[in-house]
Amino acid sequence: MLNARFCLRCGTPLESQKVDDRLRPVCPRCGYIHYVNPIVAAGTLVDHHGRVLLVRRGAPPGEGQWGLPAGYAEAGERPEETAVRETLEETGVRVALDDLLDVYAFSEEDSPGGVLILYAAHIEQGEPVAGDDATEARFFAPDALPRQIAFATHRQALTQWARVRTVTYGEATPAEIEAALRLIQDAGLTEETSWGRYSLPETETTVRQKSAGMIVAREGITAEGRVGRGVIGVCRYSHHGIHGVHIHDLYVRPEYRRWGVGGRLLARTEQMARSRGAVMLMTRVSANDPGMAFYLRNGFAVCGYESDQAPGHARLCRRLPSGG
Ligand SMILES: [Zn+2]
Repeated sequence: MLNARFCLRCGTPLESQKVDDRLRPVCPRCGYIHYVNPIVAAGTLVDHHGRVLLVRRGAPPGEGQWGLPAGYAEAGERPEETAVRETLEETGVRVALDDLLDVYAFSEEDSPGGVLILYAAHIEQGEPVAGDDATEARFFAPDALPRQIAFATHRQALTQWARVRTVTYGEATPAEIEAALRLIQDAGLTEETSWGRYSLPETETTVRQKSAGMIVAREGITAEGRVGRGVIGVCRYSHHGIHGVHIHDLYVRPEYRRWGVGGRLLARTEQMARSRGAVMLMTRVSANDPGMAFYLRNGFAVCGYESDQAPGHARLCRRLPSGG
């Protein structure tokens, strides 16, 4: 409660005092301090064949409006459990969580506000049936989302989801090469890891000579008709002998991370490699680079360590299924 008026321990009327740089209700008799802390909520974004699972709220706040399956954590519950439980209660669908998508802070009048922890999830079992406080539960396509979304945090997440759905993947067109190189340069990747790599003008040449290339992620036209930001991610590679493809840089603009763009860039790169008859994807990553976890999650394994050229770097490899 924001406006506690009496001490929870001794019943004395509370007074407003400055504690830790904030005005807080304090008991003048026993010293009890009434802290107002944000509450924790967790929910899921279930993308099922390109459509998202939403529920229509049957109770305030936001009654009659739509939202992601989400709710408040119970004491002693982990956020992951909250997200799965709330989704089941509100939609009748049992989900399994994939990645943490984002963490949002929200504030509301007359409430302590809170933190929403949102997970990407997929359906394990069940069809959407409205349950609990929901009056409807169903899937929506990114270009047909309901107008009335109950909470700003849900609106923000759905806008981002719909944006990322417009992203297409493919070999950089001649017009996109410069934008892709600029993205790599702006990210500072070439300075830090210039050893054994092509400089940008060299990359441009090798791309034109087809001994190297770039798979790009490009944002398209959003549901609101806004033209996207063009190239928002890039995977720069070169052919390594006839059987291997070496990934030099894989970069996604920070605001598009966590939404699967990197994984799709990698999948598209694999598709290209297989179509050229390659059997191995390779890359080199510094041991403390967060990219290491990304590659390991995507089926790469450490197959050696660099000694002379780049100490502290691991060689990562991933064998590709033959054929294709
Ligand atoms: Zn007291």
